[in-house]
Amino acid sequence: MSINDKRATQERIWKIRDSIQELEDLKDEIIRFYESDTESSQSSYGPWKTDVKECYFSIVSAWEMLRAVSEGKEKYIESCNSYLYLAKRKFTQVSSELRALEDKYLDKLDKSLSKIFNKCYDPILTELRELTPEVILEKPEKRIIKISDQEYEIPCSVCSKICVNFRIGTTDLFTKEGLLYTGITHQTSLNLKYANKVFSLLEDDNIAELHNFLESSSILEEGLDAYCPKCDKVYCWEHFNAYEEYDDGFYDCTYAECPEGHKRMIDD
Ligand SMILES: [Zn+2]
Ligand SMILES: [Zn+2]
Repeated sequence: MSINDKRATQERIWKIRDSIQELEDLKDEIIRFYESDTESSQSSYGPWKTDVKECYFSIVSAWEMLRAVSEGKEKYIESCNSYLYLAKRKFTQVSSELRALEDKYLDKLDKSLSKIFNKCYDPILTELRELTPEVILEKPEKRIIKISDQEYEIPCSVCSKICVNFRIGTTDLFTKEGLLYTGITHQTSLNLKYANKVFSLLEDDNIAELHNFLESSSILEEGLDAYCPKCDKVYCWEHFNAYEEYDDGFYDCTYAECPEGHKRMIDD
């Protein structure tokens, strides 16, 4: 990048600050409302205030990381991405909280939030993409990776990142030995009695059948979360374009849309 290009980029990034200022003002306005509404018995206001603050501070952090990246510190690309992801998540949550009370004033604040949040989020993401060196994505050599007789992994069909892991074992959360499933939305422990069937389908490279089996017998409500049945491929969170939805401030479900445009609910 030439010095002039670099300077222009840094100037554009600096200007995002104006939108961040607007977001800060809106954050304060939302918090003022929650604090002023003392007559209501809304016990959710405490956590809701925290959500608004987290949304705002994630954007600020993403912007600060972006500035570091624009100064040549590429190691902050990852953190910038993480903060953007967190900010988006919090934004979705805050927005659903604002709509929960069906109050005209809050609906108005929600509309402003959507507008101002995107005015911050979109340019940060665009500049970050510009500054991220092009990585050559490597497709996986195999659809399924066998670690041992009791552990298998399924990589993303686009970038090879591990998306699904099945193994027999325990974790801090699941202390009883089970068939541990780790997907792109959650981890859970399944009954050990399914291990033979699951491992044999993995051994046969039959992801479609594995997904059907898990879904139809409600072992995993939405089947393999990283899997698109229509193209018979597995995708990581990023390549599946996954996004969460919230209802009245509570996590509701996750949707994903594969690169071929197939959309489905992957977690409920
Ligand atoms: Zn991927
Ligand atoms: Zn698909």
